[in-house]
Amino acid sequence: MPGWDRHPVRDVLAGEHGCPVAVDNDVNVMTLGEQHSGIARTVDNLIFVKIGSGIGCGVQIEGRIYRGAAGCAGDIGHIQAEADGPVCSCGNTGCLEALFSGEALGRQAEAAAKAGDSVLLAEQLEAKGALTVRDVADGAAAGDAVCIGMVRAGGRRVGQVLAGLVSFMNPSMIVIGGDLAALGHILLAEIRSVVYQRSLPLATGSLPIVMSELGARAGVVGAAVLASELAFGRPA
Ligand SMILES: [Zn+2]
Repeated sequence: MPGWDRHPVRDVLAGEHGCPVAVDNDVNVMTLGEQHSGIARTVDNLIFVKIGSGIGCGVQIEGRIYRGAAGCAGDIGHIQAEADGPVCSCGNTGCLEALFSGEALGRQAEAAAKAGDSVLLAEQLEAKGALTVRDVADGAAAGDAVCIGMVRAGGRRVGQVLAGLVSFMNPSMIVIGGDLAALGHILLAEIRSVVYQRSLPLATGSLPIVMSELGARAGVVGAAVLASELAFGRPA
């Protein structure tokens, strides 16, 4: 995050408010929320994938969030999903989030509108001047083939990366959350089909891949859990 490197967020907030402060990244907090009172209440090994402006995942192993050596575990948005793909904000090419994220979808939708591939998107672009993931979601729900194709292509790429993670970690559930979860069952169906096809049956035999139950509340619930663990300790 340019401009925020080494900024002492925790100390600044603690000084400002005169109380202890817990800081964590968005997807770890969402994972905690979903695990505490969402769809993942009964599991101890969980991957929570947040697909929004970027893509990241929270990793919970044996009941605890795994943060890695420098706190950046789960940064799957920069795993390469296509060798000659578009240039990513990180400077590399073909990263997962350069191909499928809110920003990438808006860009692809505008390109499709300008190329005349989708009448529906062209109309929206003319009316609004810019397109977002919401237009793609609405288009897909209305049966627009180009929008459905974009969501499917994105789901396939997410699925390819997740299939690798499943083989590596053997989670007992994968939860999909974030703004692009609004793309709904088309996205979910594509992710499921790739993960189930590409991972070994032993790992996927009882692996639910589901949408977040808490939706936009996952982060707030998780942050409350984090604060409560800081104040009262972690329940045994
Ligand atoms: Zn990248």
